Amino acid sequence: MKGVCLRAFHLTAIGSEPMSALMPTYKRLPVAFERGEGAWLFDSDGKRYLDGLCGIAVTNLGHCHPAVSEAIATQANTLVHTSNLYRIPAQEQLAATLSDATGMERLFFCNSGAEANEAAIKLARRYGHDRGIKTPTIIVLDGAFHGRTMGALAATAGHIMKADFEPMLSGFVRVPRDDLAAIEEIAAGNTDVVAVLVEPVQGEGGVRPLDPTYLANLRTVCDKQGWLLMFDEVQTGNGRCGSIYAFQRLGVTPDVLTTAKGLGNGFPIGCCMARGAAADVLSAGDHGTTYGGNPLGCTAAQAVMDTLADGSLCQRADTIRSIILDHFQHQLADTQCVKEVRGLGLMIGIAVNTPTDTLVRTALDHGALINVTAGDTIRLLPPLIMNDDEAAQLGTIVADVLNATRETQS
Ligand code: PLP
Repeated sequence: MKGVCLRAFHLTAIGSEPMSALMPTYKRLPVAFERGEGAWLFDSDGKRYLDGLCGIAVTNLGHCHPAVSEAIATQANTLVHTSNLYRIPAQEQLAATLSDATGMERLFFCNSGAEANEAAIKLARRYGHDRGIKTPTIIVLDGAFHGRTMGALAATAGHIMKADFEPMLSGFVRVPRDDLAAIEEIAAGNTDVVAVLVEPVQGEGGVRPLDPTYLANLRTVCDKQGWLLMFDEVQTGNGRCGSIYAFQRLGVTPDVLTTAKGLGNGFPIGCCMARGAAADVLSAGDHGTTYGGNPLGCTAAQAVMDTLADGSLCQRADTIRSIILDHFQHQLADTQCVKEVRGLGLMIGIAVNTPTDTLVRTALDHGALINVTAGDTIRLLPPLIMNDDEAAQLGTIVADVLNATRETQS
């Protein structure tokens, strides 16, 4: 009886504002999904939607991937949580798997991307203190997004998200993207710098890949200065960009690597990994979390890593990208409305010069989930398991949505 009441409430509340007893921290679309399978989500009326967003780069293996769902179900019936007060074999196994896959030597598990970045920020500060730097400073970029907790927020660019949450954490200096001269200027004048934190492809900032030459030069500057190069691969990681982590494709290895999102394919888990001088910075008592790396989360992530291991899904990223973009371009009535197509693998950004405020809703009406970021950029983050036909459909729908939007304006 209780379940029936809850369900009735849920259905009537969707679409009405304010919604239920939730803090209104999200602007939600008037749809609720009941079920997911592969690249598709199904709403309570049975209508299906092609998922071109993956819950913002989370369900990289598609919804309810059998290997992940089975691993979660089996582990949930065996052991869900113990504590980091004890050894956790599933955590040790996942750490070994990630270490083999990345070359990182020491790993810390948490529950989200922001927490992974908080761990990286603390690690960098401790690295500085160990070298006698009393006010360690981290270089971050314009356009960056690193999360909403106070440290990650301070590292994030743009003041809209920060307005009214001051004071921000100090210890960050911001420079323009791809501007090596700005980095070198800081190197010459600021002895407090301990690290540089970047996303190899800025996600929220407009799906903007950093220039690979800039990244290689950053590596050189960091080596020369004794700074840590830290890559936030919360969004770019776990197969999304065509390799398990984007750094592998870009050929520049960071000292600290953070990830979350696709690591659990929907099960919340994050990780901060470190190698070399960064690997042994944190020791017992320096950092911790109750849930991080519990048996259930690690088992889910292990299934994800095992599924990605042979590289075949990663290899699909570029093929799916090409099919989406080919169909998009072919169906687009007016190519003038596209300013630029950006991204890497299955991070696709289509910058348009047409108003974007109705695009996401129109796509929903057309049966597809997409996103708009940085004001003018359609962001597509489809799953690696998408087949050719689904990729063609997604490209066509995005073009149809843009065509429809242009028509209503003319
Ligand atoms: N870093 C990047 C690059 C992200 O894209 C995000 C989320 O979008 C985060 C960090 C924060 O992750 P979470 O929302 O899991 O805290």
